[in-house]
Amino acid sequence: MSEKTVSQTNQEWFSRASKVIPGGVDSPVRSFKSVGGVPFTVESGSGAYVTDVEGNRYIDLVSSYGAILLGHAHDVPASAVRNQLATGSTFGMPTRGETLLAETMTSRIKGLDQVRFVSSGTEATMSAIRVARGFTGRDRIIVFSGCYHGHSDGLLAAAGSGVATLGLAASAGVPSSAVSDTMVVPYNEIPEIDESVAAVVVEAAAANMNLVTPQSGFLADLRAACTKAGALLIFDEVITGFRLGYEGASGFFGIQPDLWCFGKVIGGGLPIGAFGGSAEILSCLAPLGPVYQAGTLSGNPLATAAGRAVLDYVTPAHYKELAARVERFQKKLGAALIDGGLSVALSQIGTLMGLYVGAPGSEIRLPRNFEESKALASNGVYAKLFHALLARGVAMAPGPYEIAFVSMAHDDAILDTVVDRAGDAAREVAQSL
Ligand code: PLP
Repeated sequence: MSEKTVSQTNQEWFSRASKVIPGGVDSPVRSFKSVGGVPFTVESGSGAYVTDVEGNRYIDLVSSYGAILLGHAHDVPASAVRNQLATGSTFGMPTRGETLLAETMTSRIKGLDQVRFVSSGTEATMSAIRVARGFTGRDRIIVFSGCYHGHSDGLLAAAGSGVATLGLAASAGVPSSAVSDTMVVPYNEIPEIDESVAAVVVEAAAANMNLVTPQSGFLADLRAACTKAGALLIFDEVITGFRLGYEGASGFFGIQPDLWCFGKVIGGGLPIGAFGGSAEILSCLAPLGPVYQAGTLSGNPLATAAGRAVLDYVTPAHYKELAARVERFQKKLGAALIDGGLSVALSQIGTLMGLYVGAPGSEIRLPRNFEESKALASNGVYAKLFHALLARGVAMAPGPYEIAFVSMAHDDAILDTVVDRAGDAAREVAQSL
């Protein structure tokens, strides 16, 4: 069917997509499975807004799950991509762009000597773990329940985000042998780490079970426990890297891991991932060392150009301003939702915000781990609020485990509009409960 066989509505496009794309989506979190209904199909984005194929405009609080920092169709990454495209999009040979982006990243993050680029966050974590295993000569890894590190086999052991939203403990198709060296432990607790453990992987601020913040001492104690056991500490900064703040989570918390994983923001809206650490550890990677890792489109010129344009554009002052804007927004949003009759708990770290909602009169406390987050997510209120907001032109992520991403294009006036609509939406939801 050609594009000319005009499909006008979201329903029509979703039906069409569902015939040729499983579930009509290329990533399960995009489906409306956990909130019900039919996803809208995006036609375009501009600044803080996305517009669907029916012409409905939404204030976008998904921001491509954090990949968009400046706002949609921002001229800075757009013109960098246009310029690069005019001289070629991929070569399979070294380019200046990848070196320049690596220089920007390593100059900003203490302890990060080198990075290698890949094409997604999934590849970044998968490769970092391989490096950790190759470097230490150990097999086991420890991950925290509710943290999400992409969809590679060894990391799909009771992971969070999409998997949790769909209510699966792990994934079919992952052999038990693939996760037999993966230990899953509760967030915010220091696990036993023995000499069989190659690495402990953690989201320093956990943003895939809504936003669960590290409790005081957790990251420092984890750092110390890893060092003591000779295990590498891996910060998965696919969300937090260059998003939470200018220096990501490691700079924000002042804790240095042995390896970092990046994605999202560093591609300026194009597909990318990266992992990095000290030159000593990364020297075990091929071609220098025995750990094999590769990629045809790794360090892609379009993605590195877009990412570098964004990172070169943003200053510490931008992050400070965005964090202040998020704080102001969150306070007003919380007050509006409570005023509308819902129970609310809010968390914030830098520019990241978490929002938990509950039925009128219910007691909500900020969760410390996945069990507590799950208990809140299962109250069903988020799905109702999601639809009430969508009907009022505000697009949140279609699942209770995702966080809202405020981009630099979301100014106070736009955020105040969200607050007004949220109060109205909350009243409707509270009355329906
Ligand atoms: N790590 C974290 C913390 C993530 O949030 C994600 C994706 O949301 C990933 C890894 C996987 O990244 P990607 O979806 O680019 O493969």
